[in-house]
Parts: sequence; structure tokens; C-alpha cells
Amino acid sequence: MASSKGGNTTAHINTLHHRLYHALNLGFRVCDEKEKKWKCTDIEIQRHVVKSISAFLDCFSRATANNRLIKDSISDIAGALVFILGCKNRAVVGLAANVVIRLIRIVPPSILHSYSLDLVESLSPLLSCQQFDVSLPCAVALNAILVNVRETKEKEVWKILEDAKTVVSVVGNLQNFSEGSMSVEWFQEMALLLSTIMLKWPQSRYSVWHNPALMGILESVSQKPDMGLRVATLKLYSSLALCGHGANELLDNGKPMLDMMISCMEESSPQNARIEGLKLAQRLATGNRECLKMINMCSESLVKATIRTMGKGFLSSGKLEHDQMSLLVEACKLSLITRWEGKHHIYFWKCRISETLLSLVVENFQSQSLDGYVTLEEEILVAEKVLNANFLPSLRSYVWDIIGFLAAHCEEEFDSILRGDELCLNFLVTCACLTFSRSVQKGYQICQNDIISASHSESASRAVLMMIYSPSKYISSRARVTLSFLLEEGGEQNLNSLVNFLSYIPSSGGYILPNILQTTVCLVGLACYSSIPQYASFILRKQGLEILLSFCSWYQRNWENIGASSFAPSPLSIAEKRICCWVCTEDWDNKDSFLLYALLALSELVNHSFSGQNHAEELSMKSENLKDRLYTTLKEIRDGTYGSGPRWYAAHILSYLGYYGFQHKLGKRLMGAYEDEECSDMRLLFASGNSASVNKVIIAVRCPMLLPPKEGAHSSSTTVTEKSQRTVQEIRMSANVDTLALVKLLEFAYSGYVEVESTTLKKLKTLAKHCKAKVLLQMLCRRRPKWGSSIPGIDIPLALTPKLIHFSDVILVPKETKMAGFNCRMCSLTSPHAHSHRVILSSGCEYLRALFRSGMQESHLDRLNVPVSWLGLTKLVSWFYSDELPNPPSGCKWNNMDTEAKLDELQAYVEIYSLSEWWIMEDLQNDCAHVILSCLESARELSIKTIELAASFSMWKLVEAAANHAAPIYHQLRDSGELDELDDELVNLIRTAAVQFSQQGG
Ligand SMILES: [Zn+2]
Ligand SMILES: [Zn+2]
Repeated sequence: MASSKGGNTTAHINTLHHRLYHALNLGFRVCDEKEKKWKCTDIEIQRHVVKSISAFLDCFSRATANNRLIKDSISDIAGALVFILGCKNRAVVGLAANVVIRLIRIVPPSILHSYSLDLVESLSPLLSCQQFDVSLPCAVALNAILVNVRETKEKEVWKILEDAKTVVSVVGNLQNFSEGSMSVEWFQEMALLLSTIMLKWPQSRYSVWHNPALMGILESVSQKPDMGLRVATLKLYSSLALCGHGANELLDNGKPMLDMMISCMEESSPQNARIEGLKLAQRLATGNRECLKMINMCSESLVKATIRTMGKGFLSSGKLEHDQMSLLVEACKLSLITRWEGKHHIYFWKCRISETLLSLVVENFQSQSLDGYVTLEEEILVAEKVLNANFLPSLRSYVWDIIGFLAAHCEEEFDSILRGDELCLNFLVTCACLTFSRSVQKGYQICQNDIISASHSESASRAVLMMIYSPSKYISSRARVTLSFLLEEGGEQNLNSLVNFLSYIPSSGGYILPNILQTTVCLVGLACYSSIPQYASFILRKQGLEILLSFCSWYQRNWENIGASSFAPSPLSIAEKRICCWVCTEDWDNKDSFLLYALLALSELVNHSFSGQNHAEELSMKSENLKDRLYTTLKEIRDGTYGSGPRWYAAHILSYLGYYGFQHKLGKRLMGAYEDEECSDMRLLFASGNSASVNKVIIAVRCPMLLPPKEGAHSSSTTVTEKSQRTVQEIRMSANVDTLALVKLLEFAYSGYVEVESTTLKKLKTLAKHCKAKVLLQMLCRRRPKWGSSIPGIDIPLALTPKLIHFSDVILVPKETKMAGFNCRMCSLTSPHAHSHRVILSSGCEYLRALFRSGMQESHLDRLNVPVSWLGLTKLVSWFYSDELPNPPSGCKWNNMDTEAKLDELQAYVEIYSLSEWWIMEDLQNDCAHVILSCLESARELSIKTIELAASFSMWKLVEAAANHAAPIYHQLRDSGELDELDDELVNLIRTAAVQFSQQGG
């Protein structure tokens, strides 16, 4: 088949076209409606046709594929190929598949599109063919088609792939791979096909990560030196990591994989291996938890490889090739793992990240060149030149984001690890501050439509904010000095326009933000300048506090309309949009970030008012009214469902008014236990003669320093109260301990929240320091919340750990008396049971509280039978200790559970539901109903069983709710005979629900 592209004359093409139809005509059959279809089972004719198609296609390339002859004959060509492939004649199909590959390479997807379903259907079954010369071209062809499948067709294509068991065949092929007897290319193509399928169809991922044999093979293949094999496995891993469960599976014992991934990132590796390595690392870092898991295994080498990729390569050549650019982009994206706290930060600094980042900002950057600048003024002049040169604009936003995150998370005393990188860091701070203050100065002229410069403004603003609020005094003061210097001329005018802009938003009566970028710049500006005393005074004089407060209230009223706080400088790739099973907790600052910025500014202004000479008085702030407004607004934010950042800062500001901590349901519950002397087992006796009753287990978790050094040791005595035979240990407190302060400390230990008068503040601080109550101390000292820190909870689940379990005073026994493999870590009992604490159980359940103190026989027993399964009991215990009901397995895991396993899960919730009726726990019951109904939402086939289950417990409200879920599929259920097993009464219930459903136009 000699092809002589370019030399082809029209006559030659016509001849081949003629020959093609001569061959095709041997196989056309007229089917119904006079439509002719190519159908011929004769092998020789099939071979002849395939060869003729091949010869005809040889005349064309992608550039000439618009030829009329191709367009006119494509339908016949595709029809014949589909039929021939469908016949599965070993002698021809390999040849035919190769022609399909050529067809895809020449003809644009838009033209081939209408034949893709047929081709997928005929190619898929051939993958399991034992002959490599068949399965290989089929895999290549199938992959090429799947890559181009349109979104609207994806559902149909998946149906075909599923029916043909495509994933099973490919997985089988990969599992049979052995080096030597099979070509590397074969493995690569199979891996590529599977990774394409997993990328597009999340439902395929489970069967891959859940297959230990395959995962084992992949691991051993990936450890071979062949780069082709490594890249192929990296690709597979990347697609797999789109599933959160899959990523976790990969990371469990993932050291070999991570080492391989990092070695692929090295400079010595080929370009595609480096890119794939960087991409896999990004995917694994999709969630905070998983990112830390990865970091804990390989932080230093991962960071080194990333920084080397960012810093080297083009420095020497001076010019950026396209593929170097894509490497840089991937390395920058990976460096965004700095958004999370962790030990990788220190390595970023150690690897001189500032110098590396500057090499992405300044063309031909030489760090020695910074030695010469003596004054800030000089440095700013140079920075101006650098920014105007606009080197690598597409990377600039990453640079600001990375340095911003690093600043936000660095340690107070981190300067020591800078080691000569200070000048670079300084210059980077200057450049960011300059970009930011240019945006501030532009004011109304900021243009949101120029996406690149807008995203520079936005990311630089955020970076400067994180520098100003950095725990490192070095960075924060450097940023402040630079900002003040830049603002000096016309500063007040600029500040004035910021304040005016912000005051306009709530007063305009609108309910959306006027301009996202301008609002960001304005709020960040106020947050940054408020931290500089001279500007804070100015903003306060301009009613800044009132205006910020009005903005917060306005935000609360309109948050539903406000939506995304960023116009996403790097839009999500197709892959990132298709992740599944990732539980990504919201980032500290990307939910409600406008509110966070406003609160940052507010906290600086409040702090400024307080640190003035006559502090509290000045803030009592011109009017009690303002103080009230401040309190109400902040309390709503702190207790609301906003992001952790705004909630933390609201709590932080409230600490200036005497309110410390967060109020939560569990805390309120435990506070009930604290106030209830009868359930205490320890009494603290004060020198004053007063006393406080407490519970050892709670003290052990929340404030262990208060426990006597060794139980029963000095200055404690034990009394046994008669009524309930409780033993109460008495502990004499030293006369130095301030009674009121200790009571406040206990209050915080129990509830996570306390209100403190300024007169007690100092004593409580001393006590908190002594007792190592870190969270409380931080709030009492009014230290700024750490960037990214989560809302502090009450760690009562710690009471269940082996270290503290000896405080347990009751054993919960589930329905099962035997369970294979049951093993208690605390005692030698072999029947299933759970150790627990009466005080925690009582605090969550009025019924149990009454039972334990009733004096009835059960109240003395140390065993309590709980009529639920073991699974239900574990969930119940979890609720008692955390106030949260654990969810059933999610995503892929749930979807792939068999009906029986799903029913086991559901049954546990139904049991708890029923129990909570008896134990009178309304909140828990609501939580259960919520879980049960959302399970039914995702698996309607369980409705009938759930109805039966709920009916067997006489839980009629639940029966009704489940019946409503079954209503839409009533006819299906009836026709399938499923309803026959059910009581007539229950069937009637479902029928009624179905009638209602159809009447409501469901
Ligand atoms: Zn998944
Ligand atoms: Zn035990």
C-alpha cells in the first residue's frame, strides 16, 4: 500500500473510490423500506472490502478529509466496518480495527460522530479476544472513539460498554499481563483505554480500585524500569484517584506508588512521565485529609521534585518551549497544596521557594541582583519595571496564591529557615503589594472583563491579605511597611473611596454584589489597612466600623444570591468536574470569603479601639446600641452555617466583648450534666468552703491537669453517697486557686463556651495556662485564629480510647450474643459489647438519666441491654459522644453494596429510630429518618423491605414516609410481584401514596 500523499491526482482518488464501491457493492443488501445495508458474511469479500477502504483512505490526510468523496462514502464505509467487526471473523477483524484507527485519525470527530455508538458496540466484545493483533487495534480504536464521545451520548455509550462487559475484559487483559510474553505497547493501550473509561464514567472506577489482584499487578508493573509501563500506570492511577475512595485505597500503603510517582517527576524522566507524575500528585491532593496522607509519606522528596520543576529547565535555555510551559503549569498547580497546613511547608521554604517563584515573575532572574537595593523606594521602582514587563502572565496568579498560602501557614519563628532567601521573599512581598495597591488605586476603573489582569489583582490581593495576617512577624511587618509606603501619597483619599464603596453596597438596596473584583479589592484593602494603626484610626473616624457591620448584616440577608466569591482563574478541567466520592470539607476562606474579609477588617478596628488608652470605654463605642448590633450580628455568624473562617473571626471579635468559644449542642448537653450534681463522681473543694461537682471522664478529656496526679493520692478522700451508691472523690484545691476563675474554666471544659467579666480575665488566663487549656487561652489572649483551623469541638470521643476507658461505668450490650471475630480491646468478654459512661448517656437521654438514678434494679447493673444490632450500637454510641449520627458508606461504596448489605445498614437506622421513640430522643429520631430516606432516594428498590422493617417495629410514621418513596415506582413494584409478600394493609398504604403522587402530577 504505497501512499504518495500530495502526488495523488483527482483521477487516482476517483479510481480508488470506484474500486471501493465495486467491492462494497458485493455486500449491499436491501433491507426494509428500501434502505440498503452492508451485510455480507463471506470472509474473502470482507477482506477485499477492508483492503479497498484502506487503499481509499490512504489518499487522504486530516487536512484533506473534507473531500466530498469521503463525506459521501463515510456512511457506507462505517456501515461495512461495523458489520465486519460484528462478525468476529478472526482473519479479518484485526485488519478492520486497524482501518477504523486510520479512519478516526483522518476523519474529524464531527463527521464520525453519528457512527460512534455502532463502532463502540462492535469493537467492545473483541477486547477479550486472545489474539493480540485483534485486541490491540480494537483497544486503540475504542479509546480514540471514547475520547471524542459527546456528553449527550455518554449515557448510551456506558450502556453499551456495560452490556459488553468492557471494563471486565480490559481489567482481565491487564491482569494477564506479563512482561516478556506481551508487548509493552499492549499494556499501554489497555491502560490508556481503561483510564479513558474511568475518566468519563465514574461508575467504572469501583471495579478497578476494589480489585486487589489488579492493584497488585499495577504496583509491580509500575516498579519496573520501563518508562512506558510507568507512564501507563500513572495514567491509570490518575483516573482512579478521581474517586475519593479510590485515592484513599491508593494511599493506604502507597509508599511504593508515591516513590515511583516522584521519580517520574525528576528532570531525567521524559516529558510525558513528568507531567503524569505531577498530575497524579494533584489528584491525590484533592482533599485535605488525603493530601496530608500523601505528605506524611513523602513530603520532602515531593516538594523538592516540584520546586526543581518550577525553577529549572528554562533558566538555562532562556526561552520557553511549549512543553516546558505545560510542565511549569502542572508544577504550579501542585504547589497549591500549600493551601493546607502540614509539614510540607517547611520544605518549600528550605528549597528556597521565594527564589523559585521570582524566577517565574522576573525574566532571567538572578538572586544576586537583589543585593544592590538599599531602600524600599529603590526596590519598588525595580518591582514596577518587573511587573510592567509582564513575564509569564499565565503563571502569575499561581505565584501569588502559593506565596500567600505559605505566608498564612508559616510559623511565628520561621525566619531561621529562610537562610538567605530573605531578599527574594522581600522582593516577592514588594511585587505582590505593588500589584495589590495598583488595584486599589484603580478603584472604579478596575476591569473585571480582562480576565488575566483581573485574576492577577484578585490573587495578589488575597496574597497580601495572608501576608499581613501571617503568624510570622517578619512577613507581616514587611507587608505592612510596604503597603504603608505605597499608600503614603493620596492614602486618605484612597481609603475614603474604599469606605464609600463599601457603604454603598448595603445602602443601594441591591441584593447582589455590584462587582466581584472591586468588592474583593475593597474588602481586602480595608482588612489590610485596618491592621496599620494610623489607617485604622482614619477608617474608624469615617464610620468604618458601622459600615462594615452593615455590610455583614447585608451579606447575611443576601448570601444566597452572592454565590461564587471568585471567578476561578484556573477553570476546572473536565476531569476535575468528574470527581466522585471526595468529601472535601470547604476551605477556610473560599466559602463566604467576602464575609471573612469584612470580619478581618472589623476585628482590626475593634482591636484598635480596645488597645487605645481608655479601652473598653472607647469601644463601648459611642453608643451601647453599636455594641448590641455588634454582638447580635457576630453571634449569628458564629453560630450560623457559614465557612469556618468567618465563624472563627466572629468568635474572635466576640472575645473583646467577653464571650469566649463556640456554642454547640453537645456542649449544651454536657453543661446539663455539669449542673446536675447527682451524676458527678468528683468534688472540688475550695479553700473558701465552696465546692464544685464534676465528672472525671469529662475532666480527663477536657482538662486533665485538674485530675489528681494519681487516683486516690494525696489530699483526696472518697465518700459514698447512700442513695445511689455512687462514690464521690473529694479533692481539696489549693488556696491559690481563684474559685470564680476555676468555675469559669470548668464551664468552658464542659460546654466549649464561657462568658467572662474583665475582672476575672487575668486570673482565668493564669489558670488556663497552668491547665494547658490551649483553645481557651488563645481566645483569652485574643490571639488571631490560625488560618485554616477548624472550629474547635468537644473531644468527648477520646473518652472511648484505651487510655481513658477505665472511667467507663456501664457496658452496652446489643441484640447479637455472638459475633465472629469480636474482640474487645478493653476486656476479655467475647460477646459483643461497648464500654460507655453513664454521664454521657444521661446527658443525651432523659430516659436513661431517670433510669440510672431510679434506684431500680437496672440502675445498679453495669450492663444495659440495648435492643439494636451491633452495627446500630456503634452508630448510637457515636451519636452520644459526638452528637452526630454516622452516615452509611457513600458514593461508589454504597452503589456497589449488594441489597443485603444495604438492608443491614438500613436496619441499623430503623432500630435506632425505634429505640429513640422509646428512649424519647427526638433529635436522634429525626437524624435517623433523614438518613433512611436519603438511602431510599439512592436505592428505591429497598423501599418495600424498609416498609416491612419499619412496620415490624410499628413505626408508622416511617412506614408512611417510605411508602411515599415507593409511590413513584408503584406500578413497577406491583407488576414485578414484589408487593405480593406484603400485608394488604401495607399494600394499601403504598397504593394510596401512589394515587396521591399521580394526582400531584408527579
Ligand atoms: Zn467513587
Ligand atoms: Zn470490653
